[in-house]
Amino acid sequence: MTAPAAGVAALEVEGLVHRYGAREALALPHWRVDAGEAWLVLGPSGGGKSTLLHCAAGRLRAERGRIAVAGTDLATLGAAARDRLRGRAIGLLPQRLHLLSALSVLDNLLLAQGAAGLPRDRARALAVLAALGMGGREGDRPEQLSVGQQQRVALARALAPRPHLLLLDEPFSNLDVDMRERLGMEVRDILRAQRTTAILVTHDQSEAFAVADEIGILHEGRLVQWDSPYNLYHRPAERFVADFIGQGVFIPGTVLEDHRIDIGIGRLTGDLPPECGRGCEHCEHICDVEVLLRPDDIVHDDASPLRATVLHKAFRGADILYTLTLPDGRQALSLVPSHHDHAIGEAIGIRVEADHVVVFRRDPPPGPGPRTQRSSGPSPA
Ligand code: ADP
Repeated sequence: MTAPAAGVAALEVEGLVHRYGAREALALPHWRVDAGEAWLVLGPSGGGKSTLLHCAAGRLRAERGRIAVAGTDLATLGAAARDRLRGRAIGLLPQRLHLLSALSVLDNLLLAQGAAGLPRDRARALAVLAALGMGGREGDRPEQLSVGQQQRVALARALAPRPHLLLLDEPFSNLDVDMRERLGMEVRDILRAQRTTAILVTHDQSEAFAVADEIGILHEGRLVQWDSPYNLYHRPAERFVADFIGQGVFIPGTVLEDHRIDIGIGRLTGDLPPECGRGCEHCEHICDVEVLLRPDDIVHDDASPLRATVLHKAFRGADILYTLTLPDGRQALSLVPSHHDHAIGEAIGIRVEADHVVVFRRDPPPGPGPRTQRSSGPSPA
């Protein structure tokens, strides 16, 4: 199979729905991945990431919708043709590496080329190994390598047949955090240099942020936001994204007439949900909000009259992440330089220092009364 012609998407998805029994695991209205692009999908376990990859790989037949790889609709192919397409055009790196222990590193790569119906290209295999920092290890067997090195070989094996579309399922999940970030960045550079179209799914934010400039958040089978890591953190489109990305707590607040938000321990500004911006005649219905406070929004200040009690502390080298109990009993997080080392149970001075906060409408408590017409809605600051 040749590379996709100009203008033909490496992957195009239309109206894709997949269910397991009655449970809808994936619903993607439209998604187009152009040749040479790398996409990253991040989501919690059970969000639908593996289902998405297996549909894209043609391993799982979606219940509805169309998936085209390099312009070829997978549904129009018979099983044999789909296998051929999969072998040649799609590289899938599963969570488990499946390296063949009886073969050398190089033979694992050559075998993958052969399985894709391609001539065994030793020069290509050695070049990919070198690009992944495994030059000189081609004669080793997998068990002679560390977990991180095996991961590199598995990636090299997926890249060796030059797939048009590389699908990576949690590729760095069994590496430690440092290695995950380092290999993530290396892989990003390799994908770019080789103009390989890739879709990588993970539940791990540090991996996602190391690899991608733009990330899609998959939640309950839906891509709820495509955005830069910065915007996902600072401008989450939904409460779920705000909760999932980074750390923070939601604190209830009330919108004041001057449109600032009173959260009990301070008054803040933030972009309000659209209804709140109309003024406070609707307060009964819409001016109760939730404010997302990140750990850097709460600053330790010995001189502040506002005191909070240290509930937990996590040492992080340069900083300590404190979990604090506020005067009203709620909890908040505060990231404090680690030379401010306070004991659990100690009361410390704090200040809220947030230029812009993320604000969501607060759902009313269940029960009778007029405050039933709201639903949560985003309002990025
Ligand atoms: P992720 O890869 O993000 O963890 P999955 O795609 O594996 O998510 O799963 C999405 C949803 O579909 C989950 O609710 C999961 O329990 C369900 N699911 C996945 N595979 C099956 C299966 N073979 N049978 C029934 N339900 C499944």
